Amino acid sequence: MSTALRRPVFVANWKMNYGPTEARAFVAGFAAKWSPRDDRTIIICPPAISLTTVAHALGARTDIAVGVQNVWTEEKGAFTGETSAPMARDAGASFALVGHSERRHLFGETDAQAAAKCAVAANAGLTPVLCVGEMLAQRESGGTMDCVLRQLRAGLSSLDESTIASMAIAYEPCWAIGTGKTATPDDASEVHTKIRDALRELVGDAAHEIPILYGGSVNAKNAAALMAATHVDGLLVGGASLDVESWAAICGIAYP
Ligand code: PGA
Repeated sequence: MSTALRRPVFVANWKMNYGPTEARAFVAGFAAKWSPRDDRTIIICPPAISLTTVAHALGARTDIAVGVQNVWTEEKGAFTGETSAPMARDAGASFALVGHSERRHLFGETDAQAAAKCAVAANAGLTPVLCVGEMLAQRESGGTMDCVLRQLRAGLSSLDESTIASMAIAYEPCWAIGTGKTATPDDASEVHTKIRDALRELVGDAAHEIPILYGGSVNAKNAAALMAATHVDGLLVGGASLDVESWAAICGIAYP
């Protein structure tokens, strides 16, 4: 089946950068530079404290969506410091990153929590973007696919087929995140192809419509080659999304 129906997806993951004041300035700069186009999905994930500001600053620019970087597994209650999926939705988010490698490795997030977060996000009307990826030692010992497929299957285990078919997956090798080391387009393609196969086992032909994003030291120079790789349908961008010029350049690259 052709992959032409998939719209490429570009996600800015600001991580713990840009409080409300800087976030407002970024959105003003980006909105001035980026003209609406309907052949791609653009998503900005600010820190939770800047969600409302970004949503308000975007105003009528509904071509640019907002995502939350993380949610907690419960909808409300005594979870000091956490953000719930319904609250993120209320603040203007329509997407939720789940299981980002920093959540998994800096904050000890488990596969079971990633599964619960995907479910709670979907229940709140947020589209989950499930992140998966191996550590350097796993890659070096030939364990990349064991890790990636375990995280994928576990993360999706609480979701029904139609939710899986309408979400996105991001492959982010941990050794490439924030390190300046990018996977080659062939490396990315190899893993993305196996993710697509695993998705096909779960949802059949609908797997062809699920965008599989690559993330890890993406920048305006390497983005086009990565997007040209087979089964790479979008990019999840950290550092290079913090600069209006480079983010706009990445969002604008050609998709084969
Ligand atoms: P990076 O981060 O682009 O700065 O490597 C990507 C990510 O962690 O989502």
